[in-house]
Amino acid sequence: MTTATTVTIDSPGGPEALRLVTHEVGEPGAGELRIRQHACGLNYIDVYQRSGLYKLELPHALGMEAAGIVEAVGAGVTHVKPGDRVAYASAPPGAYADLRVMKAAQVCPLPDAISFDEGAAMMLQGLTVNYLFHRTVPIKAGDTVLFHAAAGGVGLIACQWARALGVTLIATAGTDAKCALALEHGAAHAINYTTEDFAARVRALTDGRGVDVVMDSVGRATFEGSLDALRPLGMMISYGNASGPVPPVDLAMLAAKGSLQITRPSLFTHIADHATCQAMAAELFDMVGSGKVSIRIGQRYRLSEVAEAHRALEARATTGATILIP
Ligand code: NDP
Repeated sequence: MTTATTVTIDSPGGPEALRLVTHEVGEPGAGELRIRQHACGLNYIDVYQRSGLYKLELPHALGMEAAGIVEAVGAGVTHVKPGDRVAYASAPPGAYADLRVMKAAQVCPLPDAISFDEGAAMMLQGLTVNYLFHRTVPIKAGDTVLFHAAAGGVGLIACQWARALGVTLIATAGTDAKCALALEHGAAHAINYTTEDFAARVRALTDGRGVDVVMDSVGRATFEGSLDALRPLGMMISYGNASGPVPPVDLAMLAAKGSLQITRPSLFTHIADHATCQAMAAELFDMVGSGKVSIRIGQRYRLSEVAEAHRALEARATTGATILIP
């Protein structure tokens, strides 16, 4: 038995609900492994889980991604072995920890060229960009995508991914400085949606046509405007709720606005299958290894400063990815 430090919540609440606890960690069982974690990723889903928007059985540890070194594997685990460098995004939460025993299926071998910090910063957000661009609706070079919160963790990866594919990405962000960052990372246009009507600006940028696809993780505040920015038969991918959940939708509205399509995906459906998850990670590692996508770590905190990290993320004070160092 070894002692591990983990961040848990006893009940939903603000950042003050986050609590550092120590507990004993044993040997991995069948299909599990034990990881000595070098860096953990911070993601907006952690806020939803902490606040109670996404329900957990309590008390529960938090955190959905990390990178480190495998210490031990249980029966049946063959794709990694002790000593391997690995990274993962995976449910259930529990990744805010220095040491962890967990299911092995979603844990991926991490190429030597990618640091632990980058691994922890990129798995959840990078795999999300992979499924948004390749596994949700056909998107090809020359298509135009509206991407909200483009200076965030998912956003800066998406800007670069779109550029690599030849997709025209119209970014939105909450400040002019964030807009500039999105442009630097490959966005073709950037709109400050706190000062401008983004749907009207998208119409102007697309000669009145609208975009082929909207990728909307902001939720309540942008939902209607996103639909108004789409071309007829365009696809709305609503995949997050940073400003609050989207209220119930009147389906007839989709017909009235031009026979629009809509989907509400989750990364965890896409990576549930072991082989698919490993293949998606390999594609992500190729994008990063080839230099087409670089991982911008905008903020680093100690694991013990996790509440401060949550406060910054919710205050829209972060850019790129945020990691926690155990
Ligand atoms: P970000 O780094 O993008 O941070 C969230 C950003 O949302 C903020 O920086 C802010 O950017 C924007 N935002 C707009 N309105 C608000 C508001 N009222 N409160 C707080 N933030 C706001 O986070 P992540 O990269 O971790 O995640 C981005 C989004 O993608 C999240 O909504 C997340 O839940 C979603 N997601 C969904 C997945 C899925 O599979 N469904 C998987 C991964 C992420 P600005 O100031 O520029 O507006």
